Amino acid sequence: MLEIEFEEPVSEICDCCGNITIKLTRFVYENDSAFAIYYVRFTKDHDDFLGLISLGDWGTDEIPSNRTSFLFKLWVDKENWNVSILDGNESPWNSEILGKLLQREEALKHPWIKDVFHITDHMVEEDQELIKYFNNQG
Ligand SMILES: [Zn+2]
Repeated sequence: MLEIEFEEPVSEICDCCGNITIKLTRFVYENDSAFAIYYVRFTKDHDDFLGLISLGDWGTDEIPSNRTSFLFKLWVDKENWNVSILDGNESPWNSEILGKLLQREEALKHPWIKDVFHITDHMVEEDQELIKYFNNQG
């Protein structure tokens, strides 16, 4: 069972358009142990949400060698959220703790991709900041 811990959103001004960019940080637990973190950022008038999910032994203070990150974008069409995996080298998040940032091709073949989609399923159901945005689109 997955549970998400929500931090307060952080905002900054977007370099490209001057709108407010909202940045989210979330901690994901599976059966009460630290399982993943994710970041999402989105800006008014930008089409999609950029996100990163990092998996691999988040219960330890070390950076485990299997720590792996997946970059993606989320967007809404009329009724649904869509998820696309992106090349990791486009990531605005580059911290060492995120481990290896996969390119799209590697990411899609990675055994943990199912966990990535499991987490994005929870995000769009439970992350109120995203849901608020979605509702404003209608
Ligand atoms: Zn912008």
